[in-house]
Amino acid sequence: TRSTRPQRLLRAVQQKAIKGDPQSVISAIDYFCRHSEWAMNVGDEKGSILDSVVCEVCPTTALELGTYCGYSTVRIARLLPPGTKLITLEFNPAFAAVARQVIEYAGLQNKVCLVEGASGDLIPKMCQMFGIKTFDFVFIDHWKDRYLPDIKLLEECQLLRKGSILLADNVICPGTPEYLEYVRNSPHYESKYFKSHLEYTKVEDGLEKSVFLG
Ligand code: SAM
Ligand code: MG
Repeated sequence: TRSTRPQRLLRAVQQKAIKGDPQSVISAIDYFCRHSEWAMNVGDEKGSILDSVVCEVCPTTALELGTYCGYSTVRIARLLPPGTKLITLEFNPAFAAVARQVIEYAGLQNKVCLVEGASGDLIPKMCQMFGIKTFDFVFIDHWKDRYLPDIKLLEECQLLRKGSILLADNVICPGTPEYLEYVRNSPHYESKYFKSHLEYTKVEDGLEKSVFLG
């Protein structure tokens, strides 16, 4: 049977990137997606905005919703201060299997904990599973209709503290209108749009950065 896109993306990493060098893994994936096959990674252009937010926040506890092949996982994990682990959630076992290999190739397996399962089931277990009290930083990039219910779940489970930063991808394309309307109008958030383009295209898209005010 024919290979899948994530498997071909992994092969591009194994052929082009240097083991243990996260930047070369990122570049190999971006090259593959620009020249061979588009894939739903945050990509290089929005990725540099993601990098600057991660560096600014310098999180001790970090969560990612939606791992896919591990591209954004590698981007975030390579910037984390020593001792910090990124928890990333993915419910598709085939994607998770590829992501594990991409993360390992980048040499970041000790900075990442990939949990297989649905965000709605796993978010309430973060304290029990990892002893997490609150997240300093959450990157939201799973299915677009889950953004709003899952941040409400993070609030309910008291996993956000005053000053926690949410960064949401694809708020314009494919778009997350209910989520945007919520974070932009709720008195519990201060929210800002970072204009950019959909990964590997010229179509407008962007990231929404929202500070939880408590
Ligand atoms: N963040 C990745 C990156 O930039 O490299 C891309 C993630 S991709 C856009 C979205 C992923 O979220 C898919 O792999 C999908 O299987 C996963 N996903 C969607 N809904 C989910 C949920 N409720 N729980 C866990 N994973 C989910
Ligand atoms: Mg995305």
